[in-house]
Amino acid sequence: MPEGDTVWRAARELNAALAGQTVTRCDIRVPKFATTDFSGHTVADVVSRGKHLLIRLGNSETGWLLHSHLKMEGLWHVYDRGERWRRPAFKARCILETAQKQVVGFDLGFLRVLPRAEEDDAVGYLGPDLLGPDWDATEALRRIRAVPERPIGLALLDQRNLAGIGNVYRCEICFLAGVHPLTPVGEVQNLPRIIDLSKRLLEANKTRSRRITTGNRGRDPLWVYNRDTRGCLRCGTKVMHQLIGDNELELRDLYYCPHCQPAVHMASS
Ligand SMILES: [Zn+2]
Repeated sequence: MPEGDTVWRAARELNAALAGQTVTRCDIRVPKFATTDFSGHTVADVVSRGKHLLIRLGNSETGWLLHSHLKMEGLWHVYDRGERWRRPAFKARCILETAQKQVVGFDLGFLRVLPRAEEDDAVGYLGPDLLGPDWDATEALRRIRAVPERPIGLALLDQRNLAGIGNVYRCEICFLAGVHPLTPVGEVQNLPRIIDLSKRLLEANKTRSRRITTGNRGRDPLWVYNRDTRGCLRCGTKVMHQLIGDNELELRDLYYCPHCQPAVHMASS
């Protein structure tokens, strides 16, 4: 599942292939933008903002932005010209070619074209980017603490608080901090440490193709995520699985160990 580290890595690969290059072919397979053609345009750079990927064309005043989000299944591939694709062609949503390279976005959950001048409107609502050049832990803390009754497991996933954490990290960070994910933010004792931990986990994984939170590179890369049938990796207790979200349309899988992550009222009794 793509999270901030995945998107950071994709942006780096796309930037290496596209930055400073002229587009020689452009095929956007999204009905609304099917006639958009950036042939002849020059790619300025490719950057990630949290889980969003931005391909910037031309200059910041008159240029264009290809704004994409991978959602659950999406991915970007970079190929040499003529190289065989590693995904079926019918899944391709965006193809950009240069003299040497071909960049293909498959199964993109979201893709749109807008003027670069509107970039801030598109992603300006995001909180500080854990892997961005402007990371600001104090601001992320301020945003999270603004709603003290909200469960920490929801606050970490809200990209308006801090950008880059997806569902796997949300579960693993709560585990590593020993905090029950439904604990209200206002009752979480070690919030600055949790933010610091989030930053370090994404930094440690951003150049890896496999996400690891346990330090064990071989087996068992995760402590609790998706382990409801195998038990907590630390203590073996049955991992609890439930769905949580701000509303019924945004329910996501939550995993936690009731022994390693006791509920607040249990911890204080
Ligand atoms: Zn445990």
